[in-house]
Amino acid sequence: MAKKKKIAVIGAGLGGLAAAARASATGAEVHIFEQSGNPGGKANEIRHEGFRFDTGPSLLTMPFVLEELFADLGKNLQDYIELIPLENLCKYFYPDGTIINAYNDTDKFAREIAENTSDSYETVQNYLKYSEKIYDLTAELFLQKSFLNFDTFLSKQGLSTLLQVQKIDSFRSMHKANSSFFRDGKNIQLFDRYATYNGSNPYEAPATLNIIQHVEYNMGGYTVKGGIFKIAQALLQLNIDMGVNVHFNSKIERILTLDNKVRGIIRKTASGEEIEEVYDIVISNMDVNNTYKFLLQDEDSRPARRYNKMEPSSSAMVFYFGVEGTYPKLETHNILFSRDYQHEFQQLFQDKVCPDDPTVYLYISSKINADDAPENSENWFVMINAPYDNGQNWTEEIDKSRRVILSKISETLGFDISEYIRFERILTPPMIEQLTGSRGGSLYGISSNNRMAAFMRQQNRSNFYRGLYFVGGSAHPGGGIPLVILSGKIAIDQMKKHESFL
Ligand SMILES: Cc1cc2nc3c(=O)[nH]c(=O)nc-3n(C[C@H](O)[C@H](O)[C@H](O)COP(=O)(O)OP(=O)(O)OC[C@H]3O[C@@H](n4cnc5c(N)ncnc54)[C@H](O)[C@@H]3O)c2cc1C
Repeated sequence: MAKKKKIAVIGAGLGGLAAAARASATGAEVHIFEQSGNPGGKANEIRHEGFRFDTGPSLLTMPFVLEELFADLGKNLQDYIELIPLENLCKYFYPDGTIINAYNDTDKFAREIAENTSDSYETVQNYLKYSEKIYDLTAELFLQKSFLNFDTFLSKQGLSTLLQVQKIDSFRSMHKANSSFFRDGKNIQLFDRYATYNGSNPYEAPATLNIIQHVEYNMGGYTVKGGIFKIAQALLQLNIDMGVNVHFNSKIERILTLDNKVRGIIRKTASGEEIEEVYDIVISNMDVNNTYKFLLQDEDSRPARRYNKMEPSSSAMVFYFGVEGTYPKLETHNILFSRDYQHEFQQLFQDKVCPDDPTVYLYISSKINADDAPENSENWFVMINAPYDNGQNWTEEIDKSRRVILSKISETLGFDISEYIRFERILTPPMIEQLTGSRGGSLYGISSNNRMAAFMRQQNRSNFYRGLYFVGGSAHPGGGIPLVILSGKIAIDQMKKHESFL
């Protein structure tokens, strides 16, 4: 009997876990190597004295992507986690005191906007139809397929997209498109915000990204019973059930190649021992740029140089506050908008500093999962967009941001919140890079601040190193929970097509 082929997956982020589970169904022997002691990467958790915080993602969209992964492997997602649909996707607070609740029910949401702003119910409905149209035209092509396949563009869907290219709205910015729909600056700001879902600048990113609003409003936003980290745990369990070998505290130091063909890895065990092993295929869930730089020690090849030139997406600064008291004015997901949104993005992307007046995102999972905080307390995940690490003075950036964040929250609630903070921890861009390997702490790989960005991302199969595949937020189709899960699917589809032994 022929020896089983061996596949190494570097990293147990959500993309790596999805790829490994699918790879196991090919009959190959699959090993995941994760440098830390637990799964999830950016989607991790912190526990401290009765408080539990999701460290990264707080909102799940396109849950059918997760359902499909489990179903394709003969499993049922519901046996692993319980999804909870959100009725109020986000409560928006504006500097002038206006409040808008973004209800999951689009009819209710359109009425809310009509009641609180100068735009009409019909405008919101038309806008969501426009967003849906972009989704219908692009989703299959951009999210489900590899751009390396010619037939992706020659399929019925591919040709239809190419023929209706003006309808995907890629020639103007998100902000320009949103300003053409809405009169009221509050609505423009609300819908511009979706650029940050892939770490981009709404004043530059193509309006095609207005697809995200359809995904959130028409398809719905979800959380998970027990927290978003449960997704990582469910994917780990799926891998165990599929017979994948999972190695924690195992850092990959090198991907070994010979004549541009992958031949194995060097890994470092928890005790510091370096082990060289032969693998037929390597799938990297580490950031693409850092995979070239550190694991392949390649800064000169065409793809390494090309990727190195691309602008990383934005990062984040997160304060995890364990707060005494409960705050009915706040919802599970809240946004406290800045006064000058354009200036905020100018500071993030051009000046590369944390904004003086940032938009503050406040996520309180204990409003849904009571176990996430002690009695009469709440677990506040407070995040602002931050530039990727470019050598800034992070001590100064933290001090400045902490002060302005607490003052904005205090102003919104009408009293000084700092007196009620019982626990505090922080996550900065350099820490995100150190913990998860992403370049400069970028959350979503490269930014989408130009029309061609979607095509410039690293494809899931390397056409430079044979046997090397990429998954995760820095590879095609991009960052965010559903997309990194899809990257695992596209990578394995490509593998089955191109590796003759599978
Ligand atoms: C603060 C924050 C908020 C976010 N909010 C949302 C949200 O609300 N909704 C959403 O959908 N997405 C959100 N995201 C984005 C989402 O978390 C990511 O896109 C996704 O989790 C990334 O998955 P990944 O597969 O790229 O792996 P990563 O999470 O990047 O994990 C990579 C893994 O590889 C491991 N690794 C790296 N190098 C090595 C090595 N050499 N050897 C072994 N292991 C290695 C790392 O330890 C890590 O576990 C957020 C992210 C952050 C940080």
